[in-house]
Amino acid sequence: MPKITTGSATGTDCHAQPVVALVIPCYNEEVTLPICIPVLCSILDDMSAAGVASADSFILCVDDGSRDATWHVIERMHRRDVRVKGIRLAHNAGQQNALYAGLMSVRGRCDAAVTIDADLQDSPQAIASMVEKYGRGFDIVYGVRSSRDSDTWFKRTSARAFYRVQLLLGLNTVYDHSEFRLMDARAIDMLAEYGEHNLYIRGIMPHIGLRSTKVYYERAPRAAGETKYSLTKLISVSVDGITSFSARPMRLIFYTGLILLLCDIAVIVWVLVSYLGGEAISGWSSIMLSLWLLASLLLIAVGVVGEYIGKIFKEVKRRPRYAIAEALL
Ligand code: UDP
Ligand code: MG
Repeated sequence: MPKITTGSATGTDCHAQPVVALVIPCYNEEVTLPICIPVLCSILDDMSAAGVASADSFILCVDDGSRDATWHVIERMHRRDVRVKGIRLAHNAGQQNALYAGLMSVRGRCDAAVTIDADLQDSPQAIASMVEKYGRGFDIVYGVRSSRDSDTWFKRTSARAFYRVQLLLGLNTVYDHSEFRLMDARAIDMLAEYGEHNLYIRGIMPHIGLRSTKVYYERAPRAAGETKYSLTKLISVSVDGITSFSARPMRLIFYTGLILLLCDIAVIVWVLVSYLGGEAISGWSSIMLSLWLLASLLLIAVGVVGEYIGKIFKEVKRRPRYAIAEALL
């Protein structure tokens, strides 16, 4: 059934077009924002002229504790066009927390929010299709890459491997979707209910289970600047994603232990037979091999358990996910 957009976010006209907020996480994006903001403003203009979105629609830049002039760029853009709004986080809280901070700031001020990266890798032209799908009753619209040609071979291969591992471990995410997505007010309200410190919004969205659909787009190369994800940051986000949603790695370790125990029985029999046969000394190589194998398995096991204990530690502290230092709303 088609959704009736009430324009409740602004309370102006009960038959108004939806107020759409574009939420952009920005970390050291001083060179990218002057390219990105005008493009997104013209998308808002086009949507408002076409009657797809309200003229009150706006952009919210979340400065994620940048060390360059990102905040000054946002201030300058805000002075030029009041539809450009911003919040500045006091420290670099990471893209997930920046997105969450942005979504919580636009909560109650818009009918739908679209999260989009600052580097124009996500196609701004797909925003209108997302809003159109929202108008047809979908609560969540995922932006899905139709190809990964613009990514490096390494990024493409590691991303595909990561999706496979996620699936294997029981984590339900949308294939080839990152953070380019539309969420309506209901989805944002539900996201607010997820109290975990270790956020993985990409995993939470399918978990919420509202009506969702996809919009396909070609992923472009970065408009300017460098990626903000180093290899270590990428691995850290991936490990966080999996361990925030699945306890299966711990279970796998337990099963591996069980299998090793069975192997141990065979080893005990073999050692006894060798001993009784007077060949005890000729076991050096196998002992060395099993020593190394077991030691590494033990370390991995301890590491995985430690990862979960670390997560529990962070959750029980209940620290705020981010701090807003300044706001231009
Ligand atoms: N970003 C952020 N905080 C961070 C790292 C990245 O807000 O700690 C933002 C960044 O400014 C960009 C988006 O997240 O708008 C995606 O980052 P990037 O384009 O560097 O990632 P990639 O596309 O290379 O995976
Ligand atoms: Mg990017």
